[in-house]
Amino acid sequence: MSKPHIAFLGLGIMGSGMARRLLMHGFPLAVFNRNAEKSMPFASEGAQVAGSAREAAAQADVIVSMVADDIASRSLWLGDGGALAAAKPGTVCIESSTVTVDWVRELADAAQKQNCELLDAPVTGSKIHAANGELNFLVGGNPATIEKVRPVFSAMGRTILPMGPSGSGALIKLINNFVCGTQVAALAEALAMVERSGLDRGKALEVLANGAPGSPLVKTVSARMTKPDFTPNFPLRLLTKDLGYAIREGEKLSIELLTVTAALKEFQKAMAAGYGDKDMAAVVELFRRN
Ligand code: NAP
Repeated sequence: MSKPHIAFLGLGIMGSGMARRLLMHGFPLAVFNRNAEKSMPFASEGAQVAGSAREAAAQADVIVSMVADDIASRSLWLGDGGALAAAKPGTVCIESSTVTVDWVRELADAAQKQNCELLDAPVTGSKIHAANGELNFLVGGNPATIEKVRPVFSAMGRTILPMGPSGSGALIKLINNFVCGTQVAALAEALAMVERSGLDRGKALEVLANGAPGSPLVKTVSARMTKPDFTPNFPLRLLTKDLGYAIREGEKLSIELLTVTAALKEFQKAMAAGYGDKDMAAVVELFRRN
């Protein structure tokens, strides 16, 4: 498929970067965002700004959605003015938001009834990776469909990893994010202990960052916690959502995610304290305040 028409739904931190990559690669693009202000800059950058997801989808060969959660995704695909009702037969629908397995499977069924195909294709990487086309797509769905839209993925990402049948992209993404979430929660506790005990913070962080716990996440998030810089890259409210979704997936497999449950409590407290729109690193402030 060469230069298919694309509809892009959701122009938040991630979606805005991804949509710009598609423009940069010359794809004819229609965009829709619930809050129209975020769409406006795209008009002068060469995109058609649509008044609804349905309007954006009408001419599309490929529809990409990148929104907050199940509720937002359902509303943009199936709600009033939703995209799917307008999709032409054969349209490839890509759900890149981090959502539940149940929802993407329901959406895949709805797409099939419309003679369209759904790929669940959540991403790893954050704001900067979205802006630079360096995301990693974890894709569930038909391998032939993935190949058909590979150029679209390639404009936005550096790897496209077929994970298996519908829902498998969504599931590995939730597993990935709960491993991240528990690390961030533990790091917040660790940093609070270092600071309150009077240990040399720089030396203590060198031990953590250069030793076994020094994952890429621990390195970047500890830098944000110590600066502190809570400009949202990955908003705390979205990680909280992901941990809740992951616990539900664990329950379906009769696996009680104990560390995730503890981390979720921490992030829920941080939400209640008003840090929901800050970067997930802001969870450390809970312990600094106490
Ligand atoms: P964001 O900046 O908060 O953007 C959220 C988007 O969802 C906005 O376009 C927002 O529209 C839309 N939205 C929210 N609720 C809606 C509703 N009820 N109906 C219609 N639209 C709605 O989030 P983001 O960081 O771009 O994340 C997008 C997705 O990617 C999430 O699923 C997130 O978990 C996942 N993700 C994020 C990162 C990251 O580092 N940020 C990394 C990997 C994956 P408005 O502008 O109108 O509010």
